Amino acid sequence: METNKMKLITQALLFTPGPTPTPEYIRQAMAQPTLHHRTSAFESIFAAVRMHLHAMLQMPETLMLASSGTGAMEACIHTFSSHKILSINSGKFGERFGGIGRAIGREVIEIINEWDTPASLESIEQALMQHKDIECICLQICESAGGLAHPYKEIAALVKKYNQDIFVIADGITAMGVEHIDTTHIDALIGGSQKAFMLPPGLAFIGLSKQAIDFIEQYPKGYYFNLAKELKNQRKNTTAYTATTSIIIGVKAYFDMLVAHDLELTDIYQYSTNIAHATRQALQAIDLHIYPKTPANSMSVVDSIYAKDIIKILKARYNINVAGGQDRLKDKIFRINHMGYVPLHEIAFVINAIELTLQILGIRTFNAQANRIFFECLMNV
Ligand SMILES: *Cc1c(COP(=O)(O)O)cnc(C)c1O
Repeated sequence: METNKMKLITQALLFTPGPTPTPEYIRQAMAQPTLHHRTSAFESIFAAVRMHLHAMLQMPETLMLASSGTGAMEACIHTFSSHKILSINSGKFGERFGGIGRAIGREVIEIINEWDTPASLESIEQALMQHKDIECICLQICESAGGLAHPYKEIAALVKKYNQDIFVIADGITAMGVEHIDTTHIDALIGGSQKAFMLPPGLAFIGLSKQAIDFIEQYPKGYYFNLAKELKNQRKNTTAYTATTSIIIGVKAYFDMLVAHDLELTDIYQYSTNIAHATRQALQAIDLHIYPKTPANSMSVVDSIYAKDIIKILKARYNINVAGGQDRLKDKIFRINHMGYVPLHEIAFVINAIELTLQILGIRTFNAQANRIFFECLMNV
């Protein structure tokens, strides 16, 4: 008997690893009348956001650019190299660094791995030995294509030990706001508004080291993405061109929301870690396989021959949007977001729906095992 005729009247759940849902608190803040960007009212908001970002990233400067994350990736390669870059490619976003480099005329040395495999320190050392004129290394902290974490701290330390002058460009777009990022050996740390900050897309961040700042000031480059020009302006709490005022207001609301809920960033990091850990345990408990060898905490990624059907059923029956894979991982994986504020009842509903979906597909008899393990893990941490 068909018993699933009930129409779900819940709002669709957005569980894709970016864009993430924007909380009411932030939406309200962004819904205020338009502020002109050359006003003291906006400059004071800009100053507050700068201060928050400096504290969050523990770097001497942070730039905000009106662009999606890719714009900041291009700005960094353009700024910190003139002929040769080393790019770590374990997925679509690593591939992007190489693509940008070639598009702007750089020679690109790539360390290519399967999308479930992190870069090894040996491979990086070898590339550095072989190509003495590499000017910067580009890598993801979390490669979102397969939810993979690279050993970025060790890689950055290795590069700097080898040659202090090589710039370390880290794409932290799906790490910023999820975990504490050790910026000791990072020169440029890239973030974006639409992931853990839970904002609309359109604002990119670049945290800068002292070494990076000195270099930028000595060798200004480019026009729109001229980081020297931005540094000069942003130190005065303004931008070279029209600022993305509404999203910057949203960033301030993000930090204000933490204060309003008596939360520190470390609480958010802990929460995301716990949710990610419990989700992985729950999924494994119902015989699903976690795709990356070194999973990041920003998302859980499962590879399954049923991935396409699971995504379809989650949407059709439970109104849940999870993400599939791209390119070579199309129809092979599904990705569940953990970035930003993910309410416990929502992720629990998603995990339960996945187990129900396995029953619908005739793979497994439902016995609420996934949710049981999920809560056991959460309560035991
Ligand atoms: C989302 C994302 C980006 C940014 O892509 P845009 O679409 O340009 O914002 C870059 N790197 C990673 C790892 C991402 O997850």
